[in-house]
Amino acid sequence: MSFASLGLSPHLLNNLEKQGFKKPYPIQEQAIPAILDGKDVLGIAQTGSGKTASYVLPVLMNLDGQTLKKNRHINVLVMVPTRELAIQVEAVFKLFGAAMPFPFKSMAVYGGVSINPQMKALSNVNVLVATPGRLLELADSNALQFSSVSTLILDEADKMLNLGFKLEMDRVFALLPAKRQNFLFSATLNPDVESMKRVLLNDPVVINVVPEKEAIELIDQIGYFVSDEKKGPLLRYLIRQKKMEQVLVFTSSVYQADLVAEKLQKNGIPARAIHSKKSQGNRTETLNYFKAGELTVLVATDLLSRGIDIEFLPFVINYELPRSPKDFVHRIGRTGRAENPGEAITFVTPDDQHHFKIIQKKMKKVVDMIDSEALDLHGA
Ligand code: AMP
Repeated sequence: MSFASLGLSPHLLNNLEKQGFKKPYPIQEQAIPAILDGKDVLGIAQTGSGKTASYVLPVLMNLDGQTLKKNRHINVLVMVPTRELAIQVEAVFKLFGAAMPFPFKSMAVYGGVSINPQMKALSNVNVLVATPGRLLELADSNALQFSSVSTLILDEADKMLNLGFKLEMDRVFALLPAKRQNFLFSATLNPDVESMKRVLLNDPVVINVVPEKEAIELIDQIGYFVSDEKKGPLLRYLIRQKKMEQVLVFTSSVYQADLVAEKLQKNGIPARAIHSKKSQGNRTETLNYFKAGELTVLVATDLLSRGIDIEFLPFVINYELPRSPKDFVHRIGRTGRAENPGEAITFVTPDDQHHFKIIQKKMKKVVDMIDSEALDLHGA
């Protein structure tokens, strides 16, 4: 199947070719025609499946021909759980929107940065990508008009619909016109998503492209039994021995993330930490460095385990285990994307062993273990 056969315009086909998108990914094959047809869509798809383009392309097509109201009106609202994802999704709209034969403007709004510049920039915006808190702040200041919203998209909907977002999301829904097209994209189909599907979607086309199990099968997993004191040397040993050039290391706390990054730097390995206590400017800069390949190690808390797409990320290391098996799957899902197999390494201390058994059981996968006592970590 080709992009042309999906009904996209020559402008977009041109741009797709320029971006090196040769043929549609499965989610795109199914979502693009459904969205062009005006249907609601529930997409169960992981980050890495190509889900962003699966809604960006047809949404741009649908905008063509709509009368676009000016000033503080927006036409399309995309809700995302994190600032990083807001920036990432908006960049895809910008990339393809530039090819459209009408004036197109997209914008990302998120908290953690000053609201005034966002208020000022909010005019003639067709597509707004927003985190819930900041969107409501802007709505409360009358900086936005919702009556022209024709499309609502919830990306990472499983995350948006739990974790304390509920009250905010209910307020957002109440602001929107009742008649609109809706898309929910979620990595998993859990009870929250099921119930939201009933409330939000009108006879949706349901697309399920990457069963979680298959995604996990793409990832080589290995575990290391290690004591708490030996984690640092083991990390350095693995980075050097496997000649890692880009690795995402997960810790469970902000404090540990900073500590691990500092220790690596002291040992001459370029590393930075990213977590909720860093300023937004710092987070964006760190992520950009890492994406550009200028940073060997990014040490992150679970803030980064969802949604963020880093091309060709070959290694993920769980320096500490997450509490929930779901978070474990999201973490290791940062590697092993579509056509690029990756390796996920997990450190398991004696105290972790029971919890790691539970994670493996939930994941339905037994991870091979190596005892780090057998390795020569001296000099690491
Ligand atoms: P996503 O799941 O939306 O985060 O996309 C994952 C990655 O796949 C992004 O880096 C996209 O640029 C890339 N991508 C999406 N669709 C295609 C395609 N049809 N061909 C090649 N690359 C794609």
